[in-house]
Amino acid sequence: MIRLNNINKSYVMGSNSLHVLKGIDLQIEQGDFVSIMGSSGSGKSTLLNILGMLDNYDSGTYHLSGNLIQNMSEKKAAQYRNDLVGFIFQSFNLISFKNAMENVALPLYYKGVPRKKRNQIALEYLEKLGLKDWATHMPNEMSGGQKQRVAIARALISQPKIILADEPTGALDSATSYEVMDILKKVNDDGITVIIVTHEHDIAAMTNQIIRLKDGLIHEIIRNGELKQFKKEYTHGLEAAQIPS
Ligand code: ADP
Ligand code: MG
Repeated sequence: MIRLNNINKSYVMGSNSLHVLKGIDLQIEQGDFVSIMGSSGSGKSTLLNILGMLDNYDSGTYHLSGNLIQNMSEKKAAQYRNDLVGFIFQSFNLISFKNAMENVALPLYYKGVPRKKRNQIALEYLEKLGLKDWATHMPNEMSGGQKQRVAIARALISQPKIILADEPTGALDSATSYEVMDILKKVNDDGITVIIVTHEHDIAAMTNQIIRLKDGLIHEIIRNGELKQFKKEYTHGLEAAQIPS
């Protein structure tokens, strides 16, 4: 589904240039559940933004579902994003003056779905995420975990093929983080490709493949047997049964 070949990306500021991604080769299949790890500033968000067509790359190729994603107009990029990708952010990015239902319905507003219909669909998604009773609440009346569930509902309402989540548990305590990861696992069980950025080992240990970025390159991909070892090391004996659902 995702094919990156020799992707390079630099940020240019005045006469300075920062080479952030130095030739990334990567394949991610439909239905994968992937985490991207790496130290702060290693280019995790840059890579995720390129995958989500929020940012351009300088050289190399990016194929998404067989289509070359390159030099696209903003209009075309937005169309691909709307059809294929749902985003989740560390800071939730909810609109503070809209209630939970209106936040979830927002992508359908942009698609021209009439108010009554989009609110009805938004309610269905809120219900799926256990937030039916919170539909008319404003973001500032909700906990961090609830806000992130609203954001997940908003990401899912366009029925994306891929969810991209940049530090989705970064602002949450560990119990709430596991809840959010549990939801993302269920999303992935429905066949949606889920790619998260995290620097927390125990969070990464809940995915099926860990990509480590270092010095602008993929340093290591942890899966299969190595992943089992990683899970052993970093779940600190926390059994799946103890993770609240
Ligand atoms: P990470 O998410 O791994 O912490 P980022 O992808 O956000 O890393 O950033 C990688 C490097 O690129 C950092 O040094 C950061 O300061 C720099 N950077 C990120 N975005 C920009 C930008 N829009 N303009 C200039 N430099 C940027
Ligand atoms: Mg980042």
